[in-house]
Amino acid sequence: MKELTHFIGGKHVAGTSGRFTEGWQPMTGEQISRVPLASKAEVRAAVENAKAAQPAWAATNPQRRARVLMKFLQLLERDNDKLAEALAREHGKTIADAKGDIQRGVEVVEFACGVPHLMKGEFTDGAGPNIDVYSLRQPLGVVAGITPFNFPAMIPMWKFAPAIACGNAFVLKPSERDPSVPLMLAELFLEAGLPPGILNVVNGDKESVDALLDDPDIQAIGFVGSTAIAEYVYARGCATGKRVQCFGGAKNHLVVMPDADMDQTVDALIGAGYGSAGERCMAVSVAVPVGEKTADELMRRLIPRVESLKIGPSTDSSADYGPLVTAQALERVRGYVDLGVKEGATLAVDGRGFKMQGYEKGFYLGGCLFDHVTPDMRIYKEEIFGPVLSVVRAQTYEDALRLCNDHEYGNGVAIFTRDGDAARDFAARVQVGMIGVNVPIPVPIAYYTFGGWKRSAFGDLNQHGPDSIRFYTRTKTVTARWPSGVKDGASFVIPTME
Ligand code: NAD
Repeated sequence: MKELTHFIGGKHVAGTSGRFTEGWQPMTGEQISRVPLASKAEVRAAVENAKAAQPAWAATNPQRRARVLMKFLQLLERDNDKLAEALAREHGKTIADAKGDIQRGVEVVEFACGVPHLMKGEFTDGAGPNIDVYSLRQPLGVVAGITPFNFPAMIPMWKFAPAIACGNAFVLKPSERDPSVPLMLAELFLEAGLPPGILNVVNGDKESVDALLDDPDIQAIGFVGSTAIAEYVYARGCATGKRVQCFGGAKNHLVVMPDADMDQTVDALIGAGYGSAGERCMAVSVAVPVGEKTADELMRRLIPRVESLKIGPSTDSSADYGPLVTAQALERVRGYVDLGVKEGATLAVDGRGFKMQGYEKGFYLGGCLFDHVTPDMRIYKEEIFGPVLSVVRAQTYEDALRLCNDHEYGNGVAIFTRDGDAARDFAARVQVGMIGVNVPIPVPIAYYTFGGWKRSAFGDLNQHGPDSIRFYTRTKTVTARWPSGVKDGASFVIPTME
């Protein structure tokens, strides 16, 4: 069985804490690795390496830093198959979906290659007599990222690519459930010419997260994961004076207006509801048809599609989705389906009995579809994070909008309609961070920013796009006067622009 490592100072380092967790292959249900869980001292070693390497990296001109990112892109392309296979093996998603996970990260690396332009400051010539004013963007120093299991390539790259491009050194604490790809990414970045110590990976659990949160040399922390932990990381990180951004859970609604193109809507719900076994923070987990007629028509079309979903091992290129990530995740999601039945929702398609032939120990669950879900039910209020779609029937557009706005999460949402007025009104009034109009998973492209509202995000700057440059840099403003003959004596009043 493989024993994984940490990656510190440009080298693989064996865990020394004596604590490990099991790494599983969801497709077969077999344990495939032991993942070391870092102690406070191991985290500190990573931070010290980062701290020692950072000043020289920050002093490397931005064009040269960008070239290292460009080389990293070439290596990501070279090793694409290898990365996708490793990702699918530990996560369980299909290889095609694993490639999408990598590609979405690649797009943010591409964005970060623009750092010479993105970090440019502002300049005002002649803001006063012989006075020029200009602003500088400088890196923060050592920063850290704590990432979830569900996008083990994309989210680490969303964090470390802009941070490193800006001249910071990075300590990544990936999910202990699928840490191989983050380790491979660190190796590739080193091969691309990144100096040792600029990207470190420590594997671990709460102990390593707490060590990062309390470390005085870490200037900023970016977290992605469930809301309870996001809130904890935000509070503890802020208490130790760090800049913190935390992205949490979701319950994304898709509103189906009576005039929606039903073929397109059903395709969207099937792909966004069940792709990656529903383990996406932008998965659609609630469909909100407006009007009974729309709801009946939607259910008539959805049921056969959910019943015929093709579930398979990650290596099956014809599978729609693969297993859940762990046996515990499978238990939790099954528990929610049991709960929905108890709460009185109609289980229109029951995937609980699904068994994958030849892979009986794998963590598979058939697609589940609930109708007549109501807002007071726990299956509506809580994030299930599995292949379970709930249909909540709304009588009017205003009811549908209110549902989206009243939910505690506000990550993504979509409306399907042919009515431009309705779509425009929805985009203006919905209390959600990312909105799709006839687009089911409105994950913004890399040069816009990604982030939810309400209890889906804590902190005021989003991920990737221009916000990521703001998050990973500090601004200085310089007011300069050259001694060219202006003699205005000592002044005892505050200078103004009068
Ligand atoms: P998780 O909260 O269990 O873990 C996230 C990270 O926190 C991991 O690195 C984990 O090791 C660490 N962690 C776990 N327990 C901890 C504790 N008690 N103290 C400190 N750190 C701890 O999340 P997950 O199950 O890996 O990922 C799924 C969740 O992530 C879902 O809720 C999903 O919606 C969310 N997510 C959100 C976004 C977004 O951008 N909003 C994106 C992807 C995933």
